[in-house]
Amino acid sequence: MTARPLPPPCPDSPPGRLAGLAVIGGGPAGLMAAEVARAAGLEVDVFEAKGSVGRKFLIAGKGGLNLTHGEPRPAFDSRYRERQEEVAAWLDGFDAAALRDWAAGLGVETYVGSSGRVFPLDRKAAPLLRGWVRRLRESGVRFHVQHRWTGWDAEGALRFTTPDGGLRLQAGAVVLALGGGSWPQLGSDGEWLPWLRESGVETTPLQPANCGFDVGWSAHFRGRHAGAPLKPVVAHFGTDTGADGLQGECVISEYGLEGSLVYALSAPLRDAITRDGSATLLLDLVPGRPIERLQRELARPRGKRSLAEHLRRQAGLDGPRVGLLHEVLGRGGLDDPHTLAGTLKRLPLTLLRPRPLPEVISSAGGIRLEALDPATLMLDRRPGVFAAGEMLDWEAPTGGYLLTACFASGHRAGRAAARWLATQPPPSTSSGSDIFLPSGGVTGGRLRR
Ligand SMILES: Cc1cc2nc3c(=O)[nH]c(=O)nc-3n(C[C@H](O)[C@H](O)[C@H](O)COP(=O)(O)OP(=O)(O)OC[C@H]3O[C@@H](n4cnc5c(N)ncnc54)[C@H](O)[C@@H]3O)c2cc1C
Repeated sequence: MTARPLPPPCPDSPPGRLAGLAVIGGGPAGLMAAEVARAAGLEVDVFEAKGSVGRKFLIAGKGGLNLTHGEPRPAFDSRYRERQEEVAAWLDGFDAAALRDWAAGLGVETYVGSSGRVFPLDRKAAPLLRGWVRRLRESGVRFHVQHRWTGWDAEGALRFTTPDGGLRLQAGAVVLALGGGSWPQLGSDGEWLPWLRESGVETTPLQPANCGFDVGWSAHFRGRHAGAPLKPVVAHFGTDTGADGLQGECVISEYGLEGSLVYALSAPLRDAITRDGSATLLLDLVPGRPIERLQRELARPRGKRSLAEHLRRQAGLDGPRVGLLHEVLGRGGLDDPHTLAGTLKRLPLTLLRPRPLPEVISSAGGIRLEALDPATLMLDRRPGVFAAGEMLDWEAPTGGYLLTACFASGHRAGRAAARWLATQPPPSTSSGSDIFLPSGGVTGGRLRR
């Protein structure tokens, strides 16, 4: 990845100035903002803390790169829960179909899987990212990797640390697309949050989303069943799962429960734990088998068979499900068929806490959407500074909804930044030592042609 020269580290010299757009953060949201702004004719410089862009996007490719989802709107919008109205406005400008067309424009055809999830045909992220970065570079977008933004200085200049030391820059407009707080080793570490808060931007703390939960398993249960899948099961959790519950798959882990069914419920579960100290998830371990039938089956004489064998024969239970019954009922509760049947249909699991932010798939929290102009995603407190992607305070389940909203918000922010910059008076070249050049390089703390 090539970078044009920027000023050598010289924190005391006047800041360099970019007349166009500085995009900070090279994930899907930032790269989409860069693409749209460049297409609108702006000079665009992308600053990325890591040695290459799109690292989290590449990791998403390990799971097949679930780019988006085939479900129609407005059901699609409802996945964004409390923020569906705001995200729907972003999707009006760039929705799932537009995302698939965009990928096709890069030579990456997609398909809708049986669950409605949309993937590239080869289920890989690297070819898509490679082609995208090449196209961006060819269009004139400049990349500056290993440039870590560290906030604004007292004069409002962007501060960066680089391998060569500090750097200060003014830019015509800025798109912040720094990601959330999960998997910090890939670059998005959430360290920006206090800098924004201190500069008056309304934020909420980053919290785990799409996460597993700790359950206080006994050592015996953990030792025997960690890693075992539970599929299918139906989860019940208050009004969030409706009368019929939510069917899906989860996995017993060393620490508790994980898997797509738990991820889908992670927002209400996390909020309940914050409010009440713990949350009780009810699992139907035998979906499709009515309780009356179970009671009859389990009341049949056991003979000399072990309880596990009896449960396997009568109710089709495997070892992990029998283990869960033991874990919840203890030895004393296993003899009564009515108790057994009731527990199998509504096994109560106490979830103690969500897994720590660094290990979960995505984060909730970040810049409050109330801190932004909804039409442009420009920060109210910082004219000319726009924000996009997971650093904004919305959340969604897995299924392609995360990437779709990141692309859509990047699209909106990039387009709005281009429009905003077009309305600004041309920068003065007479004051101080800043020199404005639309397409120059930068040297000695100044831009040059
Ligand atoms: C294991 C895993 C699998 C996933 N799979 C999927 C999936 O299949 N489908 C889906 O929809 N979503 C998936 N996601 C979520 C999705 O990858 C993210 O929501 C998305 O990448 C967020 O995009 P973003 O552009 O907002 O931020 P990011 O992709 O996190 O990019 C932010 C960029 O900003 C840079 N940055 C951060 N701080 C600074 C700084 N101070 N200065 C300069 N640069 C900085 C970072 O290095 C990073 O490159 C997955 C996530 C994980 C962890």
